[in-house]
Parts: sequence; structure tokens; C-alpha cells
Amino acid sequence: MASISLRNVSKRYGDTVAVNNVSFDVQDNEFFCLFGPPLSGKSTILKLILGLETPDHGEILIGGKPVNALSPADRNVAMVFQNLALFPHMTAEQNVRFPLVERKVSEEKIKARVAAVSEKLHIGHLLHKPPAQLSGGERQRVAIARALVRDPAAYLMDDPISALDARLREETRVELKRIQRELGHTLIYVTHDQEEAMSIADRMAILENGQIRQMGKPSDIYDHPASQYVARLLGSPAINLLSLTQSNGWTAGAGTISLSGVPDGAAGIGIRPEDLKAEPWTGERPGVPAKVFEVEPLGGYTVVTLSAGEEKLRVLMRGQPRIEVDSPVALSCDPKRVHFFKPDGQALGSHQAGI
Ligand code: ADP
Ligand code: MG
Repeated sequence: MASISLRNVSKRYGDTVAVNNVSFDVQDNEFFCLFGPPLSGKSTILKLILGLETPDHGEILIGGKPVNALSPADRNVAMVFQNLALFPHMTAEQNVRFPLVERKVSEEKIKARVAAVSEKLHIGHLLHKPPAQLSGGERQRVAIARALVRDPAAYLMDDPISALDARLREETRVELKRIQRELGHTLIYVTHDQEEAMSIADRMAILENGQIRQMGKPSDIYDHPASQYVARLLGSPAINLLSLTQSNGWTAGAGTISLSGVPDGAAGIGIRPEDLKAEPWTGERPGVPAKVFEVEPLGGYTVVTLSAGEEKLRVLMRGQPRIEVDSPVALSCDPKRVHFFKPDGQALGSHQAGI
């Protein structure tokens, strides 16, 4: 497989800038994710790599070679379509061999290639079955076998499993990660699902309006978001974002939460729900007084929404704590886990603050 690089690539449709000065390098054998809300330019980036669209500016390289002038066929990049798009009336084997039959490859070569990818993907025993008789994970393997049968330089997936039901999606996701680990192929994967992006990618790029807002390992971006925009996109329940004011010392959330150690230039804070602690109010413990607004028990964990003055804050608690709606609680937080943001929403470097 091969590396893929974009250098200052832009693409417009009329007045819409679909892709705006995007640069990244996907290493050989890397699982790279493009993540962002709808219309942020993810599909257009894939089309530019495939050669279905031409950039207005910038250069695209596959395996270190510029491909701007090459047709899609000569770029040899494979696409796995949405919902895997297996032909239901064909067996798994007919699906896998289809791209080669279409290209009029000799029967002898087709047999050899199908046997090779089937062995790699452990689907030999499934080849006689139609897709309807396969599990979600098996269908994923067959769809990837069909993409890999041409021995592409890399393969791309555009939100391939978004329409599957939740359980099937989980199964398919795990399978995909495993397959990519086993085969070590270069994969660019598009998703608008933050959990999927976080759980699946070696590295990810977060897009907004055709621009990359942050790029890196999912866990690094989660712990060190470069802006409020990125902080809000990753994590469920979402990060608590509060504005800061300074009169008698620093406070957040319309004066309800006092803070110390606020760095110069900060205008807002963010605290992840798992970094907040709520304990029954005794009047003795330190902490911000708050009230339980609503409780959502989700089995393994519970999301508790608190009201502190005008603000609503969400706290993630393990298990199913006994906590009553409207009861008073003391709110606290590890100072190391507070994120600070400038007035423009960009993050300030790491600082420690105390609630
Ligand atoms: P995503 O895949 O992240 O949802 P897209 O790459 O499909 O985003 O779209 C990015 C922007 O480009 C959007 O504003 C979309 O409306 C626009 N766009 C995409 N394809 C076309 C097209 N063929 N013609 C006109 N506008 C397009
Ligand atoms: Mg899209």
C-alpha cells in the first residue's frame, strides 16, 4: 500500500468553498479518519483523492508521486461504499470478483486474486453465501475483500456504516479495526460520528467548513482540544462550556463558580462531565453549591444534570448512584482538568485552576 498526501488543496463549487487549503499526510498502513459535521468537506476530499474531482489549487500525492493529472483508474485507489453496498442477488464470491470481471481480467487471474484476498480476510468458508446470510462483521470483510481484490494503493470509506443499526455498527466497527490491523493497509475513513472516529482511528483530522481545525491522535485531541469547537465535537455527554467573568476574583457560569489560577487572556472554561464530581451537600465539604436538575441512569453509568445558578452542568458518574432530583450537592473538579479558552474560542495552553 502507499502513503497519501494533500498539499494546500482547495476546491470550490460556485461560491461554496468545499475544501479550503487542506494539507495532511497519511502514512503507509495508517488508519486515518476525516471527522466533521455534515457539509464540512469530507466527501469532497475523498473525491479529490479518487480523481472524481479536480482541485482548484494544491497537489495530491499517492505513494509520493503527484497524481493531479492521473485519471481515477490510474490512481488505483479503491472505495468501499456506504452500507457496504454488496449486491444482494450475488454470492459473496461473485461480489468479490465483480471489480475484476468488470475489468475483463482473465478467469485464471480472477481465481488467484479471489483466493488470495479470501485467505487474507478469512472469508473462504463464506464465499458461497449471499449477503443476507452473513453477519454484520462478515459483510464488512466481504466488502473489503471486494475493494482489495484489485490490489489498490489505498482504500477509502465514506461513512460506510452510518445507516446500520447501533448493534450492527458496533460489531462492524470492531471488525474493521481488526481487519485494518491484520492487513496493515492505508485507509482513509470518513465519519460524522465522534464515537466512531475516536474509537477507530490511529489519527484523525477534524473538519469545519472545509478546513482542518485539529489533527492528531484521538486521545490527544480529546485531552487537549485546540478550540471550543473541537472540544464540543468530541465526547458524550458533551463538555461543559462556561464563560468567565472577573470582578472580585474569577468566576464562571454567571458568578456561580469561583475559580483561582485563571491564566491571562482566558474568557471561557470547559470541563468534561467525567472530570466533575458531585457529592451530597453537607455544608462541610468544599465545593460549589448546586442542585440536581435531572438524572439519567444508563446502566453502567449515570448522567446527572446539575443547576448552579443559571447554568446547567452535566456530570458523568459511574454505576447508578443514589441521587435525588432537587437535592443539593457540592460540585468540585480536578484543577488539572479545566480547559481554558480565549475570547475567539481558541484554547490557552495547559494551566491549572481551582474551583
Ligand atoms: P460532507 O461529506 O462533509 O458532508 P461535502 O464534501 O459533501 O461534505 O460538501 C462540502 C460542501 O460542498 C457543502 O457545502 C456541499 O453543499 C458542497 N458540495 C459538495 N458537492 C457539491 C457539488 N457537486 N456541487 C455543488 N456543491 C457541492
Ligand atoms: Mg459526505
